[in-house]
This record gives sequence, structure tokens and C-alpha cells, in this order.
Amino acid sequence: MPTDETSTQSDFSVFGLDPRIAKVLTEQGFETPTPIQSAAIPNLLAGRDVIGRSRTGSGKTAAFALPALERIKDGAKGPRVLVLAPTRELALQVTEAVRTFARDLPVRVVCVYGGASYTPQLKALRSGAQFIVATPGRLLDHLERGNIDLSGIETLILDEADEMLRMGFIEAVEQVLAATPK
Ligand code: AMP
Repeated sequence: MPTDETSTQSDFSVFGLDPRIAKVLTEQGFETPTPIQSAAIPNLLAGRDVIGRSRTGSGKTAAFALPALERIKDGAKGPRVLVLAPTRELALQVTEAVRTFARDLPVRVVCVYGGASYTPQLKALRSGAQFIVATPGRLLDHLERGNIDLSGIETLILDEADEMLRMGFIEAVEQVLAATPK
């Protein structure tokens, strides 16, 4: 049956998200998906590549985080999802949002960023965290030290990719990508 995505997706239940995620969304007051969420979530759940363009505050974090969590919700330990973000502030903000969405899931979220001690990040990585949010430079440091294995990454997200390129992270991003599966 043909469907009109904009008119049929009036609430989050259409995505068939895990009840443990749906419960958090209800508690957070998420009722109606934003346009970027309606457009991105079904495609990401289906495993397709997506380029999303929309304004700050339009709900992009949930648009990529919810399907990423849905795909790894009860899976193996170790890095499965990687989000690269241009700044520590954005990385921390994304981490906080993902931790909220993942509250009732057996998924650990670690934030890897520069200007902070390696030890807690290392500890979180060693504990089997599945969802990594990182700034490119510090992630590269961890890679070079052999602290992180990205060979099990299934979902890769470049948050604010345009900003990341503007800030000259292209080489670091390419080196990180080279350590992930094709
Ligand atoms: P973001 O653009 O991802 O930074 O999200 C901006 C803000 O909107 C955050 O506080 C989110 O928690 C909130 N938000 C995102 N999507 C929705 C939604 N569908 N309904 C209500 N609030 C939302």
C-alpha cells in the first residue's frame, strides 16, 4: 500500500521502536517526530545511508541516535556505534541525550574528547561501551595507543560534518574512517 510519510507519521509509535526507548520518549515529552526525524528514522532503521540537513534545534540528535540504539539495543559489547562531533561541547551534549534515550537499555555510552584525562575514557572503553561519541583528535590518540578497536562499528555518524570539515578535521576523520569496516 502506498504511504505518504508526512501524513502517516503522526507519532513515534509508527517507527516500532523498542518499548524501553518509547517509554523514555514519552517521559521526555516527545510526541510528534520533527521533520528530520520522520525523514531519517525509517531509512536509518532500514540500514540505509542518510545525509541530513536541518537547523540547530530541529531534533537531529534523536534522528540519528534512536535508530542507532534500536539496531544495537541487546547486542554484543564493544564499540558498535561511533558519532564524531567537531567540539567537546557538542560531543558532551550528544552523549547526554543518548544516555537518556538508552537509560533502560543494556547499552553503555562513552564520550571521548580532548582536554580531559585519558583514564576515565579508557576505563569506559575497557568496560565494553557500545556507543562512542568522540571528537576526532582524541579518538585518533586512543586509536594510536591501541585503546580502542573500531572493527565492530556498524553505524557511523558525522555530526555537524560541515563544521568538522571547516575546522580542518578532514585528515583525522579519514584516519578514523580507515579503522572502521568498509
Ligand atoms: P537537537 O536538535 O537534537 O539538539 O534537539 C533540540 C531539542 O529538541 C532537544 O532538547 C530535544 O530533546 C528536543 N526534541 C527533539 N525531538 C523532539 C520531539 N520530537 N519532540 C519534542 N522534543 C524534541
